[in-house]
Amino acid sequence: MHDDIPLTVGRVTRVLTERILPAVHAESVPLTAQWHELPGEPVSPAEGLALDYTPYAVGTPWGAAWGTTWFRLTGEVPAHWAGRRVEVVADLGFDRDMTGFQCEGLVYRADGTPVKSLNPRNQWVLVAEEAEAGRAVELYVEAASNPILVAGNPFVPTREGDIVTSSSTRLYTTGRLDLAVFERDVFELALDVQVLLELQAELPPGPRRMQVLQALDEAMDRLDLQHVASTAGDARAALVDVLARPAEASAHEISAVGHAHIDSAWLWPLRETIRKVARTTASMTTLIDETDDFVYGMSSAQQYAWIKEHRPEVWDRVKAAVDAGRFVPLGGMWVESDTVMPSGESLVRQFLHGQRFFETELGIRCRGVWLPDSFGYSPALPQLMRRAGFEWFFTQKISWNQVNTFPHHTFLWEGIDGSRVLSHFPPMDTYNAQLSGAEVALASRQFRESRVATGSIAPVGWGDGGGGTTREMTGKASRLADLEGSPRVRWEHPDAFFDRTREQLPQAPVWVGELYLELHRATLTSQHRTKQGNRRTEHLLVEAELWAATAAVRTGTAYPHDELDALWQQVLLQQFHDILPGTSIAWVHREAVEQYARVTEAAEAIIARSLAALVGEGDTALEANAAPFERAGVPAGGAVERESRTDEPGAYAVSLSERDGGWVLDNGVVAVTVSAEGLVTSAVDLATARDAIAPGREGNLLQLHEDVPNRWDAWDVDRYYRNRVTDLRDVSVLSAAVDDEGVARVVVERHISADSTVRQELSLAPGARLLEISQETDWHETETFLKVAFRLDVRAEHVAAETQFGFHRRVTHTNTSWEAAKFETSMHRFVLAEERGFGVALVNDSTYGHDVTRDVVGDDVVTTVRLSLLRAPRFPDPETDQGVQTHRYGLVIGADAEVATREGALMGTPPRRLTGARRVAPLVTATGEGIVVSSVKEAADRSGDLVVRVYESLGGRARGTLRLDLPVAAVTTVSLLEEPLDDGEVVVVDGEVPVVLSAFEVRTFRVARA
Ligand SMILES: [Zn+2]
Repeated sequence: MHDDIPLTVGRVTRVLTERILPAVHAESVPLTAQWHELPGEPVSPAEGLALDYTPYAVGTPWGAAWGTTWFRLTGEVPAHWAGRRVEVVADLGFDRDMTGFQCEGLVYRADGTPVKSLNPRNQWVLVAEEAEAGRAVELYVEAASNPILVAGNPFVPTREGDIVTSSSTRLYTTGRLDLAVFERDVFELALDVQVLLELQAELPPGPRRMQVLQALDEAMDRLDLQHVASTAGDARAALVDVLARPAEASAHEISAVGHAHIDSAWLWPLRETIRKVARTTASMTTLIDETDDFVYGMSSAQQYAWIKEHRPEVWDRVKAAVDAGRFVPLGGMWVESDTVMPSGESLVRQFLHGQRFFETELGIRCRGVWLPDSFGYSPALPQLMRRAGFEWFFTQKISWNQVNTFPHHTFLWEGIDGSRVLSHFPPMDTYNAQLSGAEVALASRQFRESRVATGSIAPVGWGDGGGGTTREMTGKASRLADLEGSPRVRWEHPDAFFDRTREQLPQAPVWVGELYLELHRATLTSQHRTKQGNRRTEHLLVEAELWAATAAVRTGTAYPHDELDALWQQVLLQQFHDILPGTSIAWVHREAVEQYARVTEAAEAIIARSLAALVGEGDTALEANAAPFERAGVPAGGAVERESRTDEPGAYAVSLSERDGGWVLDNGVVAVTVSAEGLVTSAVDLATARDAIAPGREGNLLQLHEDVPNRWDAWDVDRYYRNRVTDLRDVSVLSAAVDDEGVARVVVERHISADSTVRQELSLAPGARLLEISQETDWHETETFLKVAFRLDVRAEHVAAETQFGFHRRVTHTNTSWEAAKFETSMHRFVLAEERGFGVALVNDSTYGHDVTRDVVGDDVVTTVRLSLLRAPRFPDPETDQGVQTHRYGLVIGADAEVATREGALMGTPPRRLTGARRVAPLVTATGEGIVVSSVKEAADRSGDLVVRVYESLGGRARGTLRLDLPVAAVTTVSLLEEPLDDGEVVVVDGEVPVVLSAFEVRTFRVARA
């Protein structure tokens, strides 16, 4: 027979778009609208409803950036609509081509109860399922005019990203504010047609596709285009048969879960996320009520806490839906945090605060970690997930890799200590699925474990102001439940998917090590003050806990649980995957820096208070050391008289001498030569006579690169950035002196450009093998990457970079595309380049990015390690990193993993000087090579028990003891959530706990006080 597939497809597409969809709300009457515009910060719903309203004409522009406009909509159901489903249709001026990222509204009844949200693809509000004639309608809309910052050409610098600099231009124009009849048959016909149209596009040539096309043609023949509503039922009848045919026995199975990926801050401030979450959850609880099987999942305890605090009526609905098993808390974390940069303790607290909230408020313990969107995943995570009691891990982001395709979708992920966690990446390659035919077919086609497993997960719904899952998506899911030619779709909790998968895949493939994201590499550096705030506050809070716990045991001072919880939660919030990575608007980073200052002040106050209680009043000069290593005779976790320190000038006094216009610093341990250019041309470990710096090469070389990525300015640095480089060699000031404490200091000042300057102080203390560099940069560059290079005379096959509770090794070559893609990588406090017998480390107190290259000097391979210090992208924050920036970093001359771990930790937790009457003896002292105390605190359950966490830091088996200097009733090993483990009872002999740890093992002890 003659056939023309494009003719049918074209016909159905046009009728669907131009006739069927507009006929869903064909019959409508305008509502009467009034408005009240509020610039600036939002008001409570009660205040919003009580505002003075004035008449508003549809089509009038509304809403300057970041303002809120309250609309009052009133009307009356026309008599002839009696008995029909009536809805409000409100188009606030949405751009339907974007699913979120623009204006939004939350609708309230006249009594102030929230109804549901208004979003670009979700513009309806139910008035009545069977309306009465003349029924009065009165609704209020809290409409937020959030500016669009990512439309069209999305990476153009804008000043709309902060309420301080944004314009007062009205941004949106309402389209319609109507009361309308909802034509159920037309709505269902639209979904029938859409599902079949999308299905046939994915089918191979053959009978199923042709029969679907024939049915669609017949449906179009039955539909009267002048009377769509009255003929829609007849048209649907033509599709019943093709929709009823069941899926193939071996069809892929999709476990759908309703979802809205709501970034806790990004192109909007935190305060707007509070409202985004309220809007979305209001809509999702409504959709749950209107369906039988829909399951919605939401992560982030912080987002639940916001609803509880700010929208109690929505919170009640969420709680009811959680109890019914339809609204499922996911992830067990405080926020969906970055996992590359936070410290080990921070990740533990993400789980501790997250799970405690879910358990206390909702009676739920999450079984999996849900992180669809952060930018790479630390190889320490598998152990931390397991030790916090999680059974599975979910992400999707690695599908964004620029070069290499990840080989698995369902696999075991193995971390640095050997722990394995069942993990899944949805083969649909999205966390904003809409269940289109193309998406479900892609999942089936791409799924890498199809030989042995049957299913995958699909997070379904629009995030970030899109309002979550729509009724169109649940309508599609019901049609795709069992449809020939399509994967099967069912709503279910991800736990059910993982339970099934674990049985299907007893021999799952294994991926070992970090999940490196081959994209967004500059997130390790952008917004330096945010990075610095994170590193400093997470160390300060650990220190505050240590001194507060010590004071509680030694002096009976009350442990400040409430205060510490609030401070941790603030730091955990800022670790959200668009804040700590530096990818948010100016407003968010301005607030982050303010919050870090507040946390710092409060933590310092706790520390000062606790230490004052411990040392008493007196005039003795003391030094306290909260770092987990003894420092010059001051024990870890204790304080002693300053005069008893062991590094006072004397045996290791530093000599300073001039040479060739530069300086030589020598303390008997190391000798460092600083050239007339202010560069380190030699750094000799005197015991081995090995020079850290390659012959004829330098360290401390500041380098500038042009840095304009193709996309995602704050996120990305593209490989070609290295092709343009400027070395900073010109010196404006070079001077040196030995200070009162015997520390030799060389000051180097340079002009970076006409606008920017840098001042460095290179210092060598008596007995130290660390050449410390304090740097102050007055930075006014744009689209420029600042690095500091050290060309090391070390033939390193690997470098070791610190991560949470240990380090991981990366090769220094680029033999494969996987290695070549890692041209910018992460570290915490150290990176170590080592060959047999000699190594050099770079340590830092607030940076995370670095790169390592190999080249040849003479006959030797040398290793160049460069720390990434500053960038200056212009989107989304046009002023990123501008102004005065400070850094502390240093070269450890002659280092192995133990030395690097210690020097990094000591730099992260500086000593404190104070006066008092007495020493402080440490509560906990660890012995045994490689065993490091990570935390000493009171238990989160406020029982007064102590929690002590240790880890093996060197990658081997460690054997030692923990000495507890306090009356002890019992010691048990516990989970990261501080709960008993099956084999948890520990023997204590004379206050000592024997400790045996495997490589990079983290172990938590709970100490009941006698
Ligand atoms: Zn995100």
